[in-house]
Formats: sequence, C-alpha cells, structure tokens
Amino acid sequence: MKGRHLARIFSLLLLSVLFLFSGCAPATQFSELIISYLDVGQGDSTFIQLPNGETILIDAGNKGDGSDIIGYIQGTGTDTLDYVIATHPHADHIGSMAEVIGAFNVKNVYMPKKEHTSKAFENLLDTIEEKGLAIQTAKAGKTVFDDGNLKAEFLAPNSEEYADLNNYSAVLQLTYNDKHFLFMGDAEREVEEEILAREYDVSADVLKVGHHGSSSSSTKRFIETVKPSYAIISVGTNNHTVIRIRQRWIYCKTYMRRFGARMKAVR
Ligand SMILES: [Zn+2]
Repeated sequence: MKGRHLARIFSLLLLSVLFLFSGCAPATQFSELIISYLDVGQGDSTFIQLPNGETILIDAGNKGDGSDIIGYIQGTGTDTLDYVIATHPHADHIGSMAEVIGAFNVKNVYMPKKEHTSKAFENLLDTIEEKGLAIQTAKAGKTVFDDGNLKAEFLAPNSEEYADLNNYSAVLQLTYNDKHFLFMGDAEREVEEEILAREYDVSADVLKVGHHGSSSSSTKRFIETVKPSYAIISVGTNNHTVIRIRQRWIYCKTYMRRFGARMKAVR
C-alpha cells in the first residue's frame, strides 16, 4: 500500500434501489458505508466505515504493512476500531495486526478458535492482552451486530477441525439496507461447500474473493450462488494464479480489479 498504489484507489458509488426510487430524501438521511480494500500486495486488509460511525478492520496485511495501514485509517479521522477481525493466523493477514491494534482504541477483537506458533501470532496475543481485550470467537452463526438495516454475521468457520489453516478463516457477511458484502478471508472449497450446505443467503453485491483468487477457492457453484456484481481479489503483482480462475469470473460477468479499491454504498 505504497503511495503509488494508494493513487490507484478508486471510488465506486453504489446507489441502492431504495434511494433511486424514493425521490428526494432530506440530506440528513444520507449515510454512507465506506469499504476500503487496502492494497497490501499479497495479503489482505479491509477497513470499513459504518454509517453509524463505527469501524471494522478485517486483517492487517504482512509484517511491514503496519505504518501504511495505520496511516490510511488515521487519514480517515478514525481513532477507534470498534471491531477487529483476524480472519486466520497466516502472516499475510495478521503480520501487522499487533502494530495496528496498538495504534488505536480497540473495542472488540474476533478470531477463529485456532492457535499458531508464529511470532506474528504471539505478538498479536500479547498486544491484545496488554490492551486488556478479550478475544471473541469468530464462528458460523455468530452475529457481530444487528441494527436492523445494518448487520454483520459470521458464516464460517463451521467446524473446529480443519486440515488446512486457511479453512479456519472467519467469513463475514455485512448487510446495509439491500446491499450485501461478503469477506472470505482465505476460505477454500471445503468452506464454500459448508456455507452452501447450511443454505445461508450468500448472494452479495461485492465479494472479497477467498484466498487471493487462488484456484483452491471460488468454485463455480459458489460463484454462481453468490453472483457478485464486483469481485475484489487482493493479490501481489507477481501472482499469476488468479489468471487461472479468471474465466470463472468472466462467466459470471463480474468486474475484476487487481488492486485496492474503495467503495461507497449510499442510501
Ligand atoms: Zn492469505
């Protein structure tokens, strides 16, 4: 997420059908959901500004991405992270999480129930403890918040035992009015099948694609069920695995970007 990459960040305005057909609402009723898919190269970090003023951070890139992530968030005028979600303990997701948590007031931390012996993971646990925070378990069916037209719920993990660490990924569904956003972490085929088997409504306007666009995720059936209008793939410039699944996205007529994006959903 260097300056030159930040310059690539673009804005999309998603107008809800409700607004388009509701005529002129007073300006005070306008409220925005802003989702910033930060460019951390081969890693993940998403910062969400909710219309009620609260914030969510999902993952914090690799080691070395901390100052860029902190700078971006502070640049929005934010000093509090209401919900921090570490999707799973891989270094490309929690590499700078301790540093980022250390830089803000943090209210809630969610992680799947999976330990790891890496330095990054141990640093994260130390920082969480130093700040006097309790880790809340991210698991399928758990509601993060539900304010009627604004809701966040975990759709995975659905099990406590997976062979692959990626599949412990906390998968988050965020809904604002009639707009749906899905954040897959590094969840792979096994998790996609579990989610489909539980018959969640996973249709989404914007999908943060699982596992950096790798072919181990994004099964055709899952894509066809989610039917996203936009798919965000967070991937390094030298990673070409994404090309292999590109056909699946083209089949779904989904718009692809290979770098950071900033989105606004306006009611
Ligand atoms: Zn990853």
